[in-house]
Amino acid sequence: MNFDFSDEQVMLRKAVRSFVDHEIMPNIGEWDAKGHFDQQTLKKLAELGLMGVCIPESYGGSGMDYNSLAIVCEELERGDTAFRTAVSVHTGLNSMTLLQWATESQKQKYLIPQAKGEKIGAFGLTEPAAGSDVAALQTTATLDGNHYVLNGQKTWISLCDVADHFLVFAYTDKSKKHHGISCFIVERTYEGFSSKATKGKLGIRAGNTGELFFDGMKVPKENLLGAEGDGFKIAMSALDSGRFTVAAGACGQIMACLEASVEYCHERETFGKEIGKHQLVQQMIAKMEAGLHMSRLLVYRAGALKNKGVRNTRETSLAKWQACDFANQAADDAVQIHGAYGYSNEYPVERYLRNSKAPVIYEGTREIHTIMQAEYVLGYRKDKPLSHMLPAWKG
Ligand SMILES: Cc1cc2nc3c(=O)[nH]c(=O)nc-3n(C[C@H](O)[C@H](O)[C@H](O)COP(=O)(O)OP(=O)(O)OC[C@H]3O[C@@H](n4cnc5c(N)ncnc54)[C@H](O)[C@@H]3O)c2cc1C
Repeated sequence: MNFDFSDEQVMLRKAVRSFVDHEIMPNIGEWDAKGHFDQQTLKKLAELGLMGVCIPESYGGSGMDYNSLAIVCEELERGDTAFRTAVSVHTGLNSMTLLQWATESQKQKYLIPQAKGEKIGAFGLTEPAAGSDVAALQTTATLDGNHYVLNGQKTWISLCDVADHFLVFAYTDKSKKHHGISCFIVERTYEGFSSKATKGKLGIRAGNTGELFFDGMKVPKENLLGAEGDGFKIAMSALDSGRFTVAAGACGQIMACLEASVEYCHERETFGKEIGKHQLVQQMIAKMEAGLHMSRLLVYRAGALKNKGVRNTRETSLAKWQACDFANQAADDAVQIHGAYGYSNEYPVERYLRNSKAPVIYEGTREIHTIMQAEYVLGYRKDKPLSHMLPAWKG
């Protein structure tokens, strides 16, 4: 076991922290209030090589290990959930899935520009009537000569208006239930594609989320990812990567809650002393500290398994479930510590509370992860190595 970060990882954390402090923190209040997703910031993240941090250099990435991706997500979410979500869908759900499943020519065409940050990737699984129950999706793909023709709709898709490429899941054979789902690489420019942002979100207001529509959209046959019927497995393995980034981000959310709360504890006095001297306030601070360290251990353990190329669905699910719950609790406590001031946007903690809710819902709700963990323990669920594993980190 090695609990130390490498010099390269320490430098990476410092660089992302400095970026967040200078480029995100000063603006995020305004972006959140206006519901503005700042694409310039995404471009700057790409210039720093942060959109493909764990993708091998041979495919345009920075060639760092999977825990370096966790560091990026942790530090980004210390600033705001929106940019961490962008990295989660672009790198975690899309690029890492291409690395795992794509053919060499698909990697050359789609993974390289994504890893360089020249093109942005997203992930379209959820539909109006299919969230946790993936097999309930209704989008269809019918083979017609050299193309598949896609009809249907996706909802709650992060980067819906921003991404250039999407992984889209559709039925090629409904009679086979989840064995009949296939995955397609879709370009925004395809005829029959359109998107629309969702307004009125509780949190991640500085992010872009919304619907995708496919109206007789023709997708070239060579854009099928994996084989026909591999879609469900591809989606679940993509979630192993995405959930890891969400869990890491939750650690950053807890850090942000701690920073704001500690500062306020020293600033605010009641009954003749700093509120930090009251034991019930200390209890909330202590819970945040414990949640941060427990979450980090789970996240970096899952990352160590990814580095070895070992299946880690169970460990990643546990990390995602626990870290997001701790972050949601930490944000609730951060508002509590700030009293009425926490209830206004004069302080950032109300944004943290609003932002901390989506990660408890997306990439497997709290309830789905609870069930998964119980099923592993009870022996009802077992994982086997996949036909295409996420490659181990070569070092
Ligand atoms: C901000 C945001 C961004 C998102 N980005 C993306 C994206 O980029 N791509 C994408 O594909 N999706 C995305 N999603 C969608 C997200 O993954 C789904 O919302 C999530 O999977 C839950 O599905 P649902 O909302 O349909 O809830 P449902 O599945 O309808 O669940 C409703 C409730 O029932 C509970 N429930 C459901 N089934 C069970 C069960 N078997 N046992 C116990 N309880 C159960 C759930 O836990 C939940 O509490 C995003 C969502 C949000 C909020």
